[in-house]
Amino acid sequence: MNDLRDLYQDVILDHYRNPRNAGRMTGANHTAEGFNPLCGDRVKLFLQVENGVILDARFEGSGCAIATASASLMTETIKGKGKLEALRLLDDMHGMLTGGNTTGNLGKLEVLAGVHEFPQRVKCATLAWHTLKAALENADEPVTTE
Ligand code: ZN
Repeated sequence: MNDLRDLYQDVILDHYRNPRNAGRMTGANHTAEGFNPLCGDRVKLFLQVENGVILDARFEGSGCAIATASASLMTETIKGKGKLEALRLLDDMHGMLTGGNTTGNLGKLEVLAGVHEFPQRVKCATLAWHTLKAALENADEPVTTE
């Protein structure tokens, strides 16, 4: 049996208190916003994608510990990855969070595996990933250099 203390592992709390890649990005060419009404989590994602590779990722928003830590871990993980690879990770995350399956491909993201035991928190953890999918599906926006 897991309890809430297991859910809020040190790594998750660290990413919540000191989110990586937080703040807006100038020069992003893909953006999307996500909202999880069940919890009130909001995230706006900024990506710089060139030749199908995610060169940079940042986010801003307000959310609970799980939503914020998930967005922070995601931006760290997807930098330097190809779009298709990032979308495969999304599928793996979804499988882990909803079915409790781990594929071994998720690395540090597996700290969120415990969320599976708390169905009301699953949408908090998947919010950033759904927003990533939306951002990647957007057409490239012109990048201003000003
Ligand atoms: Zn939440």
